[in-house]
Amino acid sequence: MKTINSISGMRKKALKWRQEGLSIALVPTMGFFHEGHLSLMRTAKSKADLVVVSLFVNPAQFGPNEDLSRYPRDFERDSKLAERQGVGCLFCPDAGDIYPPGFQTWIRVEGLSHGLCGASRPEHFRGVATIVAKLLIIVQPDMAIFGQKDFQQLRVIRRMVRDLNMPVNIIAHPIVREPDGLAMSSRNIYLDAKERESALSLFQALRLAEKMVAKGCRSGPEVIQAIRNHIQSFDNTKIDYIFLGDPESLEECREIVGEALLALAVWVGKTRLIDNTLLTQ
Ligand code: AMP
Repeated sequence: MKTINSISGMRKKALKWRQEGLSIALVPTMGFFHEGHLSLMRTAKSKADLVVVSLFVNPAQFGPNEDLSRYPRDFERDSKLAERQGVGCLFCPDAGDIYPPGFQTWIRVEGLSHGLCGASRPEHFRGVATIVAKLLIIVQPDMAIFGQKDFQQLRVIRRMVRDLNMPVNIIAHPIVREPDGLAMSSRNIYLDAKERESALSLFQALRLAEKMVAKGCRSGPEVIQAIRNHIQSFDNTKIDYIFLGDPESLEECREIVGEALLALAVWVGKTRLIDNTLLTQ
């Protein structure tokens, strides 16, 4: 596996592979790999000749009071794990090269970025869309893989790719969970033992909603109230949002008809966790 830091080096390498007729899959990450990341890499490997994993803690997607400086990092471990999944290249650019002095070009996906996580993290998806666009332009992969855990992110990126006619296939990967159901996340490392127990309330709340719908409940407010009660029964939890709505438009709905997205963001102590599921009638 090759580690590349410079944008020009990455460009050259990817161009060479393309000229050799090899297909490329890109897996954008912020590092501190867990089984969710590794599963994305393996899926990428099964679909393309070469896998490029980008490892970049993107300052532009963190708000002023968020966890940019303490975001977990372990390059040596990440590098070994990526190599073991058959990754061809780890691309680790410097923030100063990605956002040079005078940088002023941003991509905003309107509508889709406003609700859910966008409501409490106003510039987050501007940062996400811009870095993903830059990575797609630098690497020019045939496909890029994103986890459904960040459901809104996936919707924002799909829309950007469609609206800007970017020639790349966006592939969604299902949520990878711990054995007890907690969605894997680099941020789970922040949780102490007591918080780890409370963190399970998100997954349990989603299962509770699935059961209610399976039993015939179609009322959005009823489902949301049940979830709210469940999460609030755990120590140290603070709900940021509970969203129930259309998985395509991300518009809220009051009645569950066909397929509905149920997405949560919950503070457990000082850690903000997200999770989601698709409810089907
Ligand atoms: P991150 O490093 O957290 O920015 O995540 C990089 C990629 O991995 C994104 O496409 C995430 O959606 C995806 N990802 C993170 N956690 C999970 C998970 N538990 N299951 C599936 N995909 C995940």
